[in-house]
Amino acid sequence: MFDALSERLESAWKKLRGQNKISESNVQDALKEVRRALLEADVNLQVTKKFIEEVRSKALGAEVVAGVSPDQQFIKIVHEELVVLMGETDAPLAHRENPPTIILMAGLQGTGKTTACAKLALHLQKQDRTVLLVATDVYRPAAVDQLITLGKQINVPVFEKGTQADPVDIAREGLAQAQADQIDTVIIDTAGRLQIDQDMMGELAAVKAAVQPDETLLVVDAMTGQEAANLTRSFHEQIGITGAILTKMDGDTRGGAALSIRQVSGQPIKFVGIGEKVEALQPFYPDRMASRILGMGDILTLVEKAQEEVDLADAAKMQQKILEASFDFTDFLKQMRLLKNMGSLGGVMKLIPGMNKLSTDQLQQGEQQLKRVEAMINSMTQEERRNPDLLSSNPSRRQRIATGSGLKVADVSKLIADFTRMRSMMQQFGMGGGLPGMGGNPL
Ligand code: GDP
Repeated sequence: MFDALSERLESAWKKLRGQNKISESNVQDALKEVRRALLEADVNLQVTKKFIEEVRSKALGAEVVAGVSPDQQFIKIVHEELVVLMGETDAPLAHRENPPTIILMAGLQGTGKTTACAKLALHLQKQDRTVLLVATDVYRPAAVDQLITLGKQINVPVFEKGTQADPVDIAREGLAQAQADQIDTVIIDTAGRLQIDQDMMGELAAVKAAVQPDETLLVVDAMTGQEAANLTRSFHEQIGITGAILTKMDGDTRGGAALSIRQVSGQPIKFVGIGEKVEALQPFYPDRMASRILGMGDILTLVEKAQEEVDLADAAKMQQKILEASFDFTDFLKQMRLLKNMGSLGGVMKLIPGMNKLSTDQLQQGEQQLKRVEAMINSMTQEERRNPDLLSSNPSRRQRIATGSGLKVADVSKLIADFTRMRSMMQQFGMGGGLPGMGGNPL
């Protein structure tokens, strides 16, 4: 995801690297690079211009934090602005107290609208919400059948009246059915066209007026690129949307659509589609997305730490320890807590080269794994933490830790093996040089 964009941005950081302060002249080149990267990623021109101005003024006004180089600080500012641009917080879906909550799905044909209806239905079902899918796309020949098939697959009822009925009537009757059956949420699939067309907009507006939805979600294909801005604008002006679902983010897609939607409509991206399967839907997290765009979780971690006034001398000591392979479980726990306090798993795993492109699922699993790791380290004696080798050779110590943490001996053995491997990997790459984007600066 966003590979091209993050690669382009890499060269922007390089231009700032080695400079010792952010000034008008050295920020100029980096900004140009960011601008070019965004435009090449098909971000709308106006959106890009506004973004660049924000970053410029923030960068020039920024206090240089001790122990952090200008390129790192610049990245932090770019990251923060990306988060703002994409919507700041993850936006929840409306949920009416008196059911049913009504969700109207809009979008062009082929964007993944029908699939997204089923994905969303499954997502809500997992939260114990009952769902009724309503098929009003009477034009695309297979749309009704497709929704029926998807409904069966996830065990969600589908209200349909074939392809001869009027979409507004189908929507109204579907809603009445949901009320009668005390269904929690109704998701209405609507007809798309290959391009924006007044018939489609007229029909969509009529369905919307008839059912008064709580959410009108625009489904946008992430590969739409530059067009996404115009598309979003048209739908928002003519229909009024409350959010978007960005599909096909699993493909070889550029970042433009994600960056443009919010800016153009003022409405958030609520979900991201990451595959053809019904399970392939994720909430949209702007901060995570921004980190992924930049591919720079480790740098952000570093800057945050410095800003939180973590003792930098301590950090330097940590680096020394890693190089000397005396990095132990106490240090590991300390690092983990720091990362956890920042509320993201940018952390230990991401510091390892090649591990910075994790999916949300992987991140969640990682977070759980971190909890288990913490429980195990907490069950170690101080001596064991200082000297992990004690554990490699002593099964009864491993058994005691397993009992103490409520986990299996195999988990403890795996932790020790992983830790040992990680420590030698850190040494091999050298914290001062080889980690992605570290630029030779002390940890
Ligand atoms: P609609 O015309 O907008 O209702 O589009 P469909 O739901 O029929 O989807 C069009 C095509 O895109 C189908 O082949 C889907 O399987 C595929 N599709 C939908 N969402 C995604 C996604 O998130 N990723 C990928 N790779 N394919 C998707």
